[in-house]
Amino acid sequence: MTPVHPGFRSFPKARVSLRKRVAIRAITFDLDDTLWDIWPVIDRAEAQLHDWLARYFPRIPEHFTSLELRELANALADERPPIAHDRTALRKEALRLAALDAGYSDFPVDAAFEVFFRARNQIVFFAEVLPVLERLAQRYPLGALSNGNADIHRVGLAHLFDFAFNAVDVGAAKPAPALFLAACRHLNMTPAQIVHVGDDPEHDVGGAASVGLRTVWVNRTGRKWPGGFRADAEIHALDELEAILE
Ligand SMILES: [Mg+2]
Repeated sequence: MTPVHPGFRSFPKARVSLRKRVAIRAITFDLDDTLWDIWPVIDRAEAQLHDWLARYFPRIPEHFTSLELRELANALADERPPIAHDRTALRKEALRLAALDAGYSDFPVDAAFEVFFRARNQIVFFAEVLPVLERLAQRYPLGALSNGNADIHRVGLAHLFDFAFNAVDVGAAKPAPALFLAACRHLNMTPAQIVHVGDDPEHDVGGAASVGLRTVWVNRTGRKWPGGFRADAEIHALDELEAILE
């Protein structure tokens, strides 16, 4: 915690009450683990890629399990800051290095990634999500702000969302301000007019609050709040959202 100068002690309270008078005019959503469960999807996408590799480039899965390929991509995020926020580039680079290691010098990395990516976008929405988004889309502009590489067209959300930005579009991942500021600019609204809804206390709640957006923490699994900026509201499923916005 940064020490607060005694003269500023009353400031945070005043700012909160001021912000509460500003009407919500738009909603942004995190995607993975907020609108669908992501890990079963990733597991299945990796399994489908594994099967494809076993068929066409069998030495790769002989040298690397799916988990090792995932870990290689994660390790590259530490080693290569310029692509650390780009899940697509990290996955492709891991595949390229694994193919080289397995002795394939002419490996079609884009075709291999597409096998993964097709399955990665075959998501199953949490049961309440689509009806809620359909109602909200009639009243507010909706936006998607994701660190991941889900494609709102492929997952079937393009007709409900006015815009979708991911970490690659803005060059930085949440909780950095870039995605939230991009939403403000696109909407031509002040941060306090926008509420961001997401599952990650640091990336979604902390990141959005640091820019001045209102925040809703989607806590589907009854987790304890881990600390940091407290969300303006906490919900357990998206069908609690409309009551909060009233
Ligand atoms: Mg998430």
